[in-house]
Amino acid sequence: MSGTMMHQPLTISSLIEHAARYHAGGEVVSVETTGEVSRTSWGEVEANARRLASALGKLGLEQGDRCATIAWNNRRHLEVYFGVAGAGLVCHTINPRLFPEQLIYIINHAQDKVLFLDKTFLPVAAKLGEHLKTVEHVVLLGPRDEEAAAMVPGLIFYDELLETGDQDYRWPELDENSPSSLCYTSGTTGHPKGVQYTHRSTVLHAIGGNQPDGLAIAARDTVLPVVPMFHVNAWAVPYIAAAVGCKLVLPGPGLDGESLVRLIDGEKVTLALGVPTIWLGLLGALEATGSRAASLERTVVGGSALAPSMIATFREKYDVELIHAWGMTETSPLGSMNQILQKHVGLDAEDMAKVRLGQGRPPWGVELRIVDAEGKVLPNDGETQGDLQIRGHWVVESYFGADESALTDDGWFDTGDVATLDGDGYLVIRDRSKDIIKSGGEWISTVELENIAIAHPGVANAAAIAARHEKWDERPLLIVVKAEGADVTGQELLDFYDGKIASWQVPDDVIFVEELPIGATGKVLKNKLREQFAEHLISAG
Ligand code: ADP
Repeated sequence: MSGTMMHQPLTISSLIEHAARYHAGGEVVSVETTGEVSRTSWGEVEANARRLASALGKLGLEQGDRCATIAWNNRRHLEVYFGVAGAGLVCHTINPRLFPEQLIYIINHAQDKVLFLDKTFLPVAAKLGEHLKTVEHVVLLGPRDEEAAAMVPGLIFYDELLETGDQDYRWPELDENSPSSLCYTSGTTGHPKGVQYTHRSTVLHAIGGNQPDGLAIAARDTVLPVVPMFHVNAWAVPYIAAAVGCKLVLPGPGLDGESLVRLIDGEKVTLALGVPTIWLGLLGALEATGSRAASLERTVVGGSALAPSMIATFREKYDVELIHAWGMTETSPLGSMNQILQKHVGLDAEDMAKVRLGQGRPPWGVELRIVDAEGKVLPNDGETQGDLQIRGHWVVESYFGADESALTDDGWFDTGDVATLDGDGYLVIRDRSKDIIKSGGEWISTVELENIAIAHPGVANAAAIAARHEKWDERPLLIVVKAEGADVTGQELLDFYDGKIASWQVPDDVIFVEELPIGATGKVLKNKLREQFAEHLISAG
């Protein structure tokens, strides 16, 4: 044999092995469900992950079996991520905020054999008990706990389970195309659908997403994933962190602004990641505590549209650059991230802000295009909007348990988002196709209406929805939560749109509410708002 290169499968165990080999002392800080802070290291995480893998083998699990987790971001959950996948099993992270019926559906559909739980979720598990058809072992992520043992018969304790594992266990050689983890979409309509990632897709996603124009996490960083480990693998942060050996801060259950400020200042966090609602809370807490979040250099925000006013506040008040990212469960999730090009260096603040507003560009490994209703590819001119499609190394091909392909005839995945792309590949999400307002044949972006409303000082949060209209089919309606102590009127808000968008796009009315309905992944549930207010303009005459 001559002229060949080594072949090594791209496996998740290779990431954690690297962390243990070259960053064994690298710190992992974890807020436990009790609120206590514990400190471990990459070396210990790897050793425990191997013990867990061995112990699961002794429980009789076989390659490809699914192990579910319902847990916060903490060190044991991190060990489960690597121990389960490293053993050739599939780590199925579940969102605890789903309704019990959805949890039952998901666990039965995935045929999970093991269920790992934080103590917080024990009551949920106790209730699901008899409905779960395939679960053989329930493991509490903690030491022995008699109170918990009394709630769930046969409960196993994680720390005791580890002791049954072999310290000398070695990671098995796996096919890189074998499955490693499983996430279900939140399923706002219909049943949730499972996306099963492979070792290969996970490693390529971690490397592709962490390039200098992506998350750019380095060994010197201290990273705080506020995005839950049950939300699309915490956007790959656990895998990237292992690959680079950065310090990792896992925030546990306390995701309120003040807890986050304490962690950021106490651990000197340089990068934090989460959905927009989290940063609203953080900004409030920064104001209240007077913290300058001095160590924080950048945050990554995605999951739903981000108001430009938030980007500006972070930059101007706290000198924190905000990287706007787009993705979805079906895309692992990183599909695009907003970083600048050489030609943008030196732009004035206003023009730079325009570049940073959108969702950014695809990293190596994925491609984006927009198409019309007939599937014809549309130009990337930054103006024409169409249905956003994606393909690449970490994009779903078919859903878990479904025989049919999830792709178009020519092999692209249709995201359900409406977007524009420009000549440099910058993506701007205009809306989800089911949310966009179709007013007399013209489309109005709810994202744009919300961005303007949220920039008004009297507004804490806002959602625009389509309300039925006799003449125009649909017209925009703005639902607003007032900022604390503000007494803004509907008319003032409507006037605030003057000169910012075309007059026919201005909402027809404003409704004030105490709070907006938020779903399991921290997004505003517009379908709930539509159920409540879709007839508002008709009934108002
Ligand atoms: P679901 O909420 O359906 O479970 P995901 O959590 O996978 O799904 O969310 C994917 C969707 O979230 C995308 O299709 C898009 O509509 C929305 N989204 C994600 N990131 C952004 C962003 N930065 N800006 C606007 N919308 C976003």
